[in-house]
Amino acid sequence: MCIFCKIVNGALPSNLVKENDEFMAFHDLNPKAPAHILVIPKQHVDSFNEVNPQTMVGMTSFIQDVAEIVGIKESGYRVITNVGDNGGQEVKHLHWHVLGGAKLPWGHFDDAESSKFL
Ligand code: 5GP
Ligand code: ZN
Repeated sequence: MCIFCKIVNGALPSNLVKENDEFMAFHDLNPKAPAHILVIPKQHVDSFNEVNPQTMVGMTSFIQDVAEIVGIKESGYRVITNVGDNGGQEVKHLHWHVLGGAKLPWGHFDDAESSKFL
């Protein structure tokens, strides 16, 4: 069983922000921003590649609520899901990083060569 499934079933503790029948939001163990919350579906899905679009419908308002609860909805925030090896996904249970609380740095590659993907 993956670590996020263990958080869902209570085998591992978490610092909970919000929960309903379908989703859970808790603070990241190693925050990368002053506010860093992880939002997950309770049902195990490996990544964004496998998620049912219907799940995303509920996920949208859930993430909006989380941003409001932690007080970053107006100041702004970033929502990220890492997918697979190149995406840097370490936990193979779909999760959204909700980052905020400060002006977030941006920039992956200053000199990205994108012609191969045009
Ligand atoms: P990924 O790299 O897969 O996109 O993100 C995984 C995230 O999960 C990381 O930001 C990491 O700090 C966080 N994380 C890993 N294990 C735990 C845990 O047991 N509890 C919590 N709250 N966060 C965790
Ligand atoms: Zn899982």
